[in-house]
Amino acid sequence: MTTHQALHKYFGYNGFRHEQEAIINNIIQQKDTLVLMPTGGGKSICYQLPAVMFDGLTVVISPLIALMKDQVDALNINGIKAAFFNSSQNDNEQQQLIQQLRNNQIKLLYLAPERLFSSESRLIDFLKTLQVSLIAIDEAHCISHWGHDFRPEYLMLAGLKIAFPNIPVIALTATADKITRQDILDKLNLHNPAIFISSFDRHNINYRVAPKKKSFDQLLRFLDEHRDDSGIIYCLSRQSTENLAADLVQQGYAARAYHAGLDRATKDKNQEAFLRDEVKIIVATIAFGMGINKSNVRYVVHMDLPKNIEGYYQETGRAGRDGLPSQALLFFSQGDAEKLKRFARVEGNEEQSRIMLKKLDDMVRFCQLQTCRRQFLLRYFDEQAPADCGACDVCLSDIEKIDGTIIAQKLFSAIARLNESFGMTYVIDFLRGSQSEKIRDAHKQLKTYGIGADISKAEWQQYIRELMAQDYLQSEGDPYPVLKLLPKASLVLKGQQQVLLTKTQVLHERETPQFAPPYEAGLLSELKRVRMNIAMNEDVPAYIILSDATLLEMATYLPQNKAELRQISGFGDVKLERYGAQFEAAVVDYCKQFNLTSRISQKSPKRERKVKAPRSNGTQSESLTLFKAGLSIAEIAATRNLSPMTIEAHLSNFVKTGEIDVSELVDPAKIPAIKDAIESYGAERLAPLKEVLGDDYSYAEIKAVTAWLEGMKTTP
Ligand code: ADP
Ligand code: ZN
Repeated sequence: MTTHQALHKYFGYNGFRHEQEAIINNIIQQKDTLVLMPTGGGKSICYQLPAVMFDGLTVVISPLIALMKDQVDALNINGIKAAFFNSSQNDNEQQQLIQQLRNNQIKLLYLAPERLFSSESRLIDFLKTLQVSLIAIDEAHCISHWGHDFRPEYLMLAGLKIAFPNIPVIALTATADKITRQDILDKLNLHNPAIFISSFDRHNINYRVAPKKKSFDQLLRFLDEHRDDSGIIYCLSRQSTENLAADLVQQGYAARAYHAGLDRATKDKNQEAFLRDEVKIIVATIAFGMGINKSNVRYVVHMDLPKNIEGYYQETGRAGRDGLPSQALLFFSQGDAEKLKRFARVEGNEEQSRIMLKKLDDMVRFCQLQTCRRQFLLRYFDEQAPADCGACDVCLSDIEKIDGTIIAQKLFSAIARLNESFGMTYVIDFLRGSQSEKIRDAHKQLKTYGIGADISKAEWQQYIRELMAQDYLQSEGDPYPVLKLLPKASLVLKGQQQVLLTKTQVLHERETPQFAPPYEAGLLSELKRVRMNIAMNEDVPAYIILSDATLLEMATYLPQNKAELRQISGFGDVKLERYGAQFEAAVVDYCKQFNLTSRISQKSPKRERKVKAPRSNGTQSESLTLFKAGLSIAEIAATRNLSPMTIEAHLSNFVKTGEIDVSELVDPAKIPAIKDAIESYGAERLAPLKEVLGDDYSYAEIKAVTAWLEGMKTTP
């Protein structure tokens, strides 16, 4: 059986995702492997599929019982024999399991790491007597104290390679920066491992950060739009989870709290209720979620600031595992940041404190971004990303920010030259080099006269108002107000501070993410009812029977018989056999009632889509097109009614991606000097570079070389 056939037969999927196929092939060749894939990316298949193809047993190490139970249920429902050792089993049950293992009747065995080596059970010695084909280590970052979720018991796993020197090991994690990654490899002693890093982009998750003001009201408004959806709401403290859950219940929502301080029974009960869609909302500390496989979580809300990007990304990653559009909403306040800072220090460990504070700092930066949040997240995980994802709050807002440093510098120096004694209209006319007699002759001799001619009057007015709002300027005096500089402005003039300005008019239509064609909503609810019945009979959560995505496909393509049902993603052999008839009947009934027929022919047997190529936004591409057509920067600026600076910024982006050669923008003879200057002074601030390089070098040229160097850094 090929891997594709196995994927279809056991899991009902038509194609591999991300790098699943390469990973699986690598394992089948018995090689050690490290897999980095985002939550919901599809890590499980990477060892579950080899497990069914290998003759012997696959041992899966996983930190949480809840996760194991879920996975074991899901595997058994797909007709794959899986089991786990657990303290709630009695002797009899354990003996039975041991017998099944001896008889090679189990394909996957799930274990917590401490069980493996604990002195009383010495499970490792027993496992050595079995035919073990593969060892999988889930949540592998737990082995590293550089990561954000260090678990000392994971350190014992170093012993695995000694006990099983010739058995391939696959380590999997959803979050690992470079140091953690290396640490995993070192600590586990992997032999010559292949490393697979998938795109961390969760394209179906929409990221949003809102100011933490009246957050409860904001939350209610948000929840109102998600009445039928399941979601997780994270709070920092145990107490606040209970309070918020109670408040939500008051408002008529089925919500439950979850935190490590609750007794086992309550925790299990609340978690089960959530998994089984009996309650829609779980209000939890971060103790909740690891090991939650629920695929139809539609939103994740953070009421408080997370401690680091890793945690935030993992928590938000619990939304939308089924690939359907999902929301991540975070409420941010500076106060939260200060509070966490006090907790971030690890007593007596300077190094560790430094790491934690740095991670917190990155988290705060994320909240304060004026640029694409997805890009920031992906770059955090060392991945390239386009500047505009079209699906985060920054990209979706009509506000486009531009680097306004030079604009502000021009304005501020003009105001200074005019001794802070003139009003807005005069300053603008002066900047634009107006020939009007109103401008004094002495002023026409100044160097700053006319330096802002490339920007329209209306644009200048808008920039000035915005710079006032940002406290760089004020307008003072009555009845003839004049523009005065505030202290912050001098930092900009010295090139020590960057200024962001708003570009108001939206110049391009945004692509909204396209998902499935229209579906039959009535049928979808019917299918959910069928699924719920089956789940209750089988005593498992509904999503283990079939995912929402599978139901949605059925409600879209209306399969009329077994063969058509087989083409729906998510129906493996066993599920088709066990439950196919019930779903088929529901679809056929519905179609009869509404006089519909099958639409299965519209379903293209396409593979899951690959990682998106970085894409730039429309306004940038437009500049590129004109540039490629031979127009100069000034001409493009004039044609598009944008400032030359904006065009330079657009084109620089393409220098970075390699679509424009740097020599198209900069005389090649000048490149070495600019490169030298950047290497000596850094590229963060342009003004000092310009000063060093002198008048022969323009800002545009410096920017282009900077972009070119950045592009070389990021492409391997
Ligand atoms: P992870 O462990 O990486 O968080 P999972 O292994 O739980 O993710 O997979 C997330 C979801 O994606 C599951 O519902 C899984 O069944 C589904 N899935 C995984 N691989 C595929 C695939 N090749 N095609 C369709 N769905 C898949
Ligand atoms: Zn974005």
